Amino acid sequence: MKISQRAEQLEPSVTLVAAAKAKALKAQGLDILSLTVGEPDFATPENIQEAAIKAIKNGNASYYTPTAGIPELRQAIVSYLQENYGLTYKTTQTIVTDGAKFALYTLFQAILDAGDEVIIPVPYWVSYGEQVKLAQGTPIFVNCKESNHFKVTVDQLEEAYSSRTKAIIINSPSNPTGMIYTKEELTEIGNWAVEKDILIIADDIYGRLVYNGNEFTPIATISEAIRKQTIIINGVSKTYAMTGWRIGYAVGDETIIQTMVDIASQSTSNPTAVSQYAAVEALLGEQDTVEEMRVAFENRLNKFYPLIEALPGVRIEKPQGAFYLFPNVKETIAICGYENVTDWVDDLLEEAQVALITGEGFGSDEHVRISYATNLGILEEAVDRIAAFIERKR
Ligand code: PLP
Repeated sequence: MKISQRAEQLEPSVTLVAAAKAKALKAQGLDILSLTVGEPDFATPENIQEAAIKAIKNGNASYYTPTAGIPELRQAIVSYLQENYGLTYKTTQTIVTDGAKFALYTLFQAILDAGDEVIIPVPYWVSYGEQVKLAQGTPIFVNCKESNHFKVTVDQLEEAYSSRTKAIIINSPSNPTGMIYTKEELTEIGNWAVEKDILIIADDIYGRLVYNGNEFTPIATISEAIRKQTIIINGVSKTYAMTGWRIGYAVGDETIIQTMVDIASQSTSNPTAVSQYAAVEALLGEQDTVEEMRVAFENRLNKFYPLIEALPGVRIEKPQGAFYLFPNVKETIAICGYENVTDWVDDLLEEAQVALITGEGFGSDEHVRISYATNLGILEEAVDRIAAFIERKR
């Protein structure tokens, strides 16, 4: 049986493939250090676990929930956005989804007709382009300059714009670069999108993971006109160490959100009930553990970053948020006698048992993505092994 052309063209997520490969090698008994995963290594905080156990015991978790999410969680999202960012929404402007990933997926299904274009700044999170294509849209990739901290400019957007442009994705702090757009930059981009009447998809999932005095501004807070033009994508995975629970959400224009609900009603029915009760506690419960985890990431960044920066040939600017480094290794791989970053990453895994992710999945053949969401001992050992690998090859 032949599969669809859409499916045939689909690239599986490079991050998940790399993480799975590292896990499989580890299971074979190899001493693999994996810096691949985009998830906190902490356990979900106790109060959130307790809320889930309570929902199981009292029977709440046994049943289907409304497709858009339980009313308590939709209300919690509204309160969270109001209290943290002064953003006012109605609960009918929210949908709870199976991770932020599925919020994005349903959003593209809801807004795109065949050939509609979505502007995606490069480097990008691996799933944006593939999800747009699955909705029969066309991703328009815009190469952001490293010298501009990998951030897209209005001039570049203007160049990428066409009459088919439907939306632009802004992911700040960024996966993979960790860069954060300033208020001024967001104002320019937001005003441009309003003027062109295109949707701003604000992937704010790393908004609470910001370090060393840097600040995150949600683009929706810039002005009322921009807020109306924006769909916020967020979730509990990264902030609350809840990747396995699969709860994300989207907030914005009521018609778009309701369309997403209709699509979800014919695909997933609802996000997992027990996870929704846990997410209510995550958003409304005590936030001390969030700060503890943030500080731990910050300490790791501050200790790990200089070690990576010091590797031969590496060029990197210090990230401001998220939990990734995205060094330019063009010179490093040349020193090692390689022309292709993916081959270098493959051999690093094979010969030094360190798993990184090739930049190719993020739109760059000069970079690698390194996650520092793992303990410092592992990070330091990984740097030693990478340094020894480079030494052996040069
Ligand atoms: N957006 C970005 C930029 C991400 O890095 C991720 C996860 O890696 C997601 C969205 C999706 O997160 P989740 O589906 O776990 O909520």
